[in-house]
Amino acid sequence: MTTRAIDQLGRALTDLRVSVTDRCNFRCTYCMPRERFGPDHAFLERHELLSFEEIATVVRVLTGFGLRKVRLPGGEPLVRRDLPRLVGLIAALDGIDDLALTTNGSLLPRHADALAEAGLDRVSVSLDSVDERVFAAMADTSVPLRAVLDGIEAALAAGLTPVKANAVIRRGVNDDGIVDLARYGRERGVVVRFIEFMDVGRTNGWRLDEVVPAEELLARLDEAFPLEPVDGGPEGQVAERYRYRDGGGEVGVITSVSQPFCGTCTRARLSAIGELFTCLFAVGGTDLRAALRDGGTDGDLAAIVRGVWEARTDRYSELRSGATRDLPRVEMSYIGG
Ligand code: SF4
Repeated sequence: MTTRAIDQLGRALTDLRVSVTDRCNFRCTYCMPRERFGPDHAFLERHELLSFEEIATVVRVLTGFGLRKVRLPGGEPLVRRDLPRLVGLIAALDGIDDLALTTNGSLLPRHADALAEAGLDRVSVSLDSVDERVFAAMADTSVPLRAVLDGIEAALAAGLTPVKANAVIRRGVNDDGIVDLARYGRERGVVVRFIEFMDVGRTNGWRLDEVVPAEELLARLDEAFPLEPVDGGPEGQVAERYRYRDGGGEVGVITSVSQPFCGTCTRARLSAIGELFTCLFAVGGTDLRAALRDGGTDGDLAAIVRGVWEARTDRYSELRSGATRDLPRVEMSYIGG
């Protein structure tokens, strides 16, 4: 029986993001800048990580609250070995009707088929530019753009659709490539989602003047490819959706800075070591691993999660101001964006 968990602002817990690792083979400047995540950075040790069975237990218990959507980000989730096995464990659970992966795409050619066979529904791939030089600068990697584009092709071929391409837009860095990205999406049948650059964590050197507000972004796109809004969409949907008037597909914008959407935020996040976070911009999380490893029952776990969620008042993006800027926020790569 489902008994919804409703927070202090009337939002139900229906969406969980599970970070399966804090490691990544890229060093995207807005998420994991190399100067802070260099060779000396202490990443989590394997024994600290929740096992796939422990992750599946958390998901199963949360389906009792009406959880229906699970997303698997990292770091880069595909650097964690045997990920299709986790996908299979979650796909087998009742109540989960949307199981997605967030990846930088570079390892997808090797894994797309196995992920699809295991029960993955769809993927979102980070793609900040289709210009080789700009891509390399933003991802700070020697992995060629081709590897990511091949990853998207592998996902399309494996039926992990709709494939979404997430592009974080920084003024003066990659905003000149907005139309080229849209053109790529139209040609490949990929939904490009343009994400306003966010002050996640404490390491990406965020500045408001580097944010391209969605309104400006859409105006630029509309000039090249006329757009119209798409109404509706699932509860807690993050992106605002638009379709091309000429039938060329869809595009999305994620407007955390210019038009916050905290009012409909139904997302919880689980770190790779089992801490439950109630906001992307949270300062800290609640440990679930002890309850998982010290003989706690499903009821114990459910009571902890319900207690945390029902006390939730998070709406960071609505409150974003000078005062919040100095809070010690958790890193995006640690809780999976
Ligand atoms: S800022 Fe926090 S509460 Fe607001 S939408 Fe993002 S995760 Fe949800």
